[in-house]
Amino acid sequence: MDENATRHLLADLSASLFARGYAVGSAGNISVRLDDGFLITPTNSSLGRLDPARIARLDADFAHIGGDKPSKEVFMHRAFYRARPDAGAVVHLHSTMATAVACLADVDPSAPIPPLTPYFVMRIGGTLPVVPYYRPGDPAMEPAIHAAALQSRAVLLANHGPVVSARTLTDAVYAAEELEEAAKLFLLLRGQTTRELTPAQVQDLLTHFG
Ligand SMILES: [Zn+2]
Repeated sequence: MDENATRHLLADLSASLFARGYAVGSAGNISVRLDDGFLITPTNSSLGRLDPARIARLDADFAHIGGDKPSKEVFMHRAFYRARPDAGAVVHLHSTMATAVACLADVDPSAPIPPLTPYFVMRIGGTLPVVPYYRPGDPAMEPAIHAAALQSRAVLLANHGPVVSARTLTDAVYAAEELEEAAKLFLLLRGQTTRELTPAQVQDLLTHFG
């Protein structure tokens, strides 16, 4: 896919997320890896109304070289791309259910959402670490995300929201949606006796779809 087509796909998928309530206001940012750099949604932009031509263009070292000024959260994306050479796109949202889980005090910080459905495991993988809270913009957040992303293709930022990567832009958006649905199921079922996938079932999924 060439850069122009990727810009349009990024705007279309962002608008779809916004229309369905995965992002409000100017929250959320999405990036995609190109052959020689990256595209990322601009700072203070709404995912609902992106102009494909004005999406920020970064070079391979994440320097801004075109389009509007990049998201202030560009360092989250940089942390993922540097940790994961297989990551072709990164989606960061403040989506309600995943962010709600990121605010729970009593979850396992290495597995805050249990493996209830196979689709969660197939899209997110076997691990979803919670990265401790940092003030937005704190440079200390980048190494913390980088360390977590070495082990996992998605993380929850405590009291903030999810960051999800995948090989392609479409897959990263699907993974972010699946994470939101998994968080919703988990919250719906809190306090009830659930039948989680067993470690062997999780491993079987990772072997076939990981
Ligand atoms: Zn954020």
